[in-house]
Amino acid sequence: MARVPKIAIIGGGIGGLAAARALQLRGIEVTVHEQAPRLSEVGAGVVTTPNAMKALRALGVEDAVLASAFASRRQVVRSWRSGRIIDQTRLDRYRDRFGAPFCTMHRGDLLEALRAAVGDAPIRLNARCVEVSSDARGAHARFADGSAVEADAIVGADGIHSAVRTSLFGAEHPRFTGYVCWRGLVATDRLPQGLAPPDMTAWWGPHGHVVHYHVRRGELLNWVAHTETVAWTEESWSREGDMDEVMRTYAGWNPKLLALFAATERCYKWALYDREPLDHWTVGRATLLGDSAHAMLPYLAQGAAQAIEDGCVLASEIARTPDDIATALQRYEALRIPRTRRIQLGARARGRDNHLPSAWARLKRDTRLALRRWFRPNATLHQAEWIFAYDAARDGG
Ligand SMILES: Cc1cc2nc3c(=O)[nH]c(=O)nc-3n(C[C@H](O)[C@H](O)[C@H](O)COP(=O)(O)OP(=O)(O)OC[C@H]3O[C@@H](n4cnc5c(N)ncnc54)[C@H](O)[C@@H]3O)c2cc1C
Repeated sequence: MARVPKIAIIGGGIGGLAAARALQLRGIEVTVHEQAPRLSEVGAGVVTTPNAMKALRALGVEDAVLASAFASRRQVVRSWRSGRIIDQTRLDRYRDRFGAPFCTMHRGDLLEALRAAVGDAPIRLNARCVEVSSDARGAHARFADGSAVEADAIVGADGIHSAVRTSLFGAEHPRFTGYVCWRGLVATDRLPQGLAPPDMTAWWGPHGHVVHYHVRRGELLNWVAHTETVAWTEESWSREGDMDEVMRTYAGWNPKLLALFAATERCYKWALYDREPLDHWTVGRATLLGDSAHAMLPYLAQGAAQAIEDGCVLASEIARTPDDIATALQRYEALRIPRTRRIQLGARARGRDNHLPSAWARLKRDTRLALRRWFRPNATLHQAEWIFAYDAARDGG
């Protein structure tokens, strides 16, 4: 490499830190500019499917992540009222099938593993980017405090409301999907005996579904309850919700689920947004990564996973042609856009199928799933084999 390229990443979330680590491992100089006064994640869970775990392995953080993760034996889908099993699959076979386990973990634990790997030195806090531009000499970022940086490339990993995306492609608002969620965390020793077996569980019902799974070695149970609405559209992960509203919304659902809600002290409420897939992420020497490039619904549990994969592929393309960064960024987006677009659109379709309002439509769906399970007993729940089989280190470029 003639000269070590300097890359500036805007945003120190899961995507930004994964990219920083991937670039460091390739010997590339990187700085992360984060608007918040400290790196933090909301108190909630995240699913790391085998493709995410393989990417974390490539970043050298698999062991750190596994030390606090939880690996459920089964994934089960139940009917909202009766609890009848609609579909189920064995997760403990995924390590052999896909080359890495299927885990669930606390988002803070994942972010901390990445931060520890990156180190504090390259991370600049209280740095809110307001504008990015690119010319023949390099890429430039301006910050709210009046400071500026110049780098060989700038990567916008600044989330769904990305300032970098607006700078590069103009203002375009995320799309309200009509879904609202509540999320809660409960210490498992506070749950009534047998309430939540250590299966990753989804309850599908009319106009909504609820998912719960263990995190932090099984010490906490994370739940997310989704419903449909047109009335409330605030996109904030830290807005406290009202447990009485949760109980009212899910009145008539299975008593075990209601007991889980009743055991939860505090919940948070937010509206789900996504973006239309973009045809391009790159302008000159500036590009996008993670939610800023491909914000998606969480119904395939792939937002963070895709952000981590993006970071691995970006670093390998920059390392291939460090003297021609603009071409490296073009290759990066060409490798990543088809996969992330398919997942964005697939996650939308899943939302509709999880919430079917009519009993007849649900019966048809459940029969179709039962037949599929009969013929393909080892199939993944959402026909996600093509997502899980991907290995960013092998298939990324
Ligand atoms: C209900 C729900 C459940 C989910 N479950 C899963 C799951 O199970 N598995 C999964 O893989 N994904 C899941 N996701 C998606 C996942 O959380 C996101 O896709 C992922 O966090 C995106 O990471 P990111 O780094 O791109 O963006 P973010 O996590 O949003 O990070 C962006 C960072 O940039 C900073 N920033 C923003 N603007 C600026 C600025 N102007 N200047 C500097 N810094 C800035 C922010 O402070 C933040 O630190 C879920 C999402 C939701 C809503």
